[in-house]
Amino acid sequence: MSVQATFFDGTLPEAHPAEIYLDDEVIRITYASADGFPHTDTWLVKKTRLADWHPAGKTRLQYGSFPHQYLDFATADYQAAVLPRYAGRPLTQVSKRLWVQERGFLTVLLITALLIALAWGLYVYGLPALADRAVELIPPAQEQKLGEVLYKQVISEERLPVDPARTQWVNAYWQAVGLPTRFPGQITVVKHNEINAFAIPGGHIVVYDSLLNRMSRHEQLAALLAHETAHIEYRHSLQQLTRSVASYAVLSLLFGDVTGLMAVLIDNAHSLTSLSFSRDKEDQADAFAVEALARQGIDPQGVVWMLHVLPKEGKLGPSALSTHPETTERLAAATKRIQHVRIMAAGAGQQRRLAELWQQIAGQTNKAHH
Ligand SMILES: [Zn+2]
Repeated sequence: MSVQATFFDGTLPEAHPAEIYLDDEVIRITYASADGFPHTDTWLVKKTRLADWHPAGKTRLQYGSFPHQYLDFATADYQAAVLPRYAGRPLTQVSKRLWVQERGFLTVLLITALLIALAWGLYVYGLPALADRAVELIPPAQEQKLGEVLYKQVISEERLPVDPARTQWVNAYWQAVGLPTRFPGQITVVKHNEINAFAIPGGHIVVYDSLLNRMSRHEQLAALLAHETAHIEYRHSLQQLTRSVASYAVLSLLFGDVTGLMAVLIDNAHSLTSLSFSRDKEDQADAFAVEALARQGIDPQGVVWMLHVLPKEGKLGPSALSTHPETTERLAAATKRIQHVRIMAAGAGQQRRLAELWQQIAGQTNKAHH
């Protein structure tokens, strides 16, 4: 019985196509040398070892001491002819060395795959989670101090011109709404043609007058302020800002260095104007606004009206509000919530006060336009 293989004589690099005869105790190899003369080599079966094996490639047998001779079979041929002929003999058994080598390779492959998976998982899930964890290290009092610095930084860095009159009226309006909050809300109206509003950790809310000018009723303003308040109360702004500096957050977590984290956050104050929140966080903030308005005796429909004056996606350039997730879906969710919320009765005095203040705020719009 014979089978084809490639022979390497161990001294010259040439590969010789060879005819292999498989006898009980010897393997005979016949091949033609470079000068065309036929040669025959004989291997003792008991001194032949399996050197390499690949399921889809070649199987290599090795013979003698160094320099070894080799025979390369197509693995299919090896399995069809050699393996059944010498079952149980050394040349059909994976040597311990080969097995360790093989297993070592598989282990390295497995560990590499695991590390890649781990790095990916850490990047996608771990960093945001660690950033949120770092946020928990910042006590509310410190968050408020941080907020003051962030506020000054973003107003000056982004050159946002404050409208003092409207700032005063909107703050008076928000106080009249009287929503109890953990952080005292402080609103600033800035003159800017972008349709935007954003919440700063610790209580500051910045409203662009262009957004204010789009509003036709005070419930929209109440809804916007309640929505932004939710982002502060739930610490969404602080979390999102920290996530934007996640790698630093992780380092500061490792070293327990809250001061360092705060310094990095302050350096990144500008990103506050365009933070975008997940759909979950927007839903949470909308739900908060619906309930807050209902509890303060203000028509929670204001949330729906407020969503209507938000810019349609992509139309007005990047801003915190235009990057907010699908407004249509939020409208549907808010409409559903309003049907299930109990609206408290507001005193006539408060109603009048809110209407008056809104007149002042809206009146400023007219002044700005005429
Ligand atoms: Zn929001």
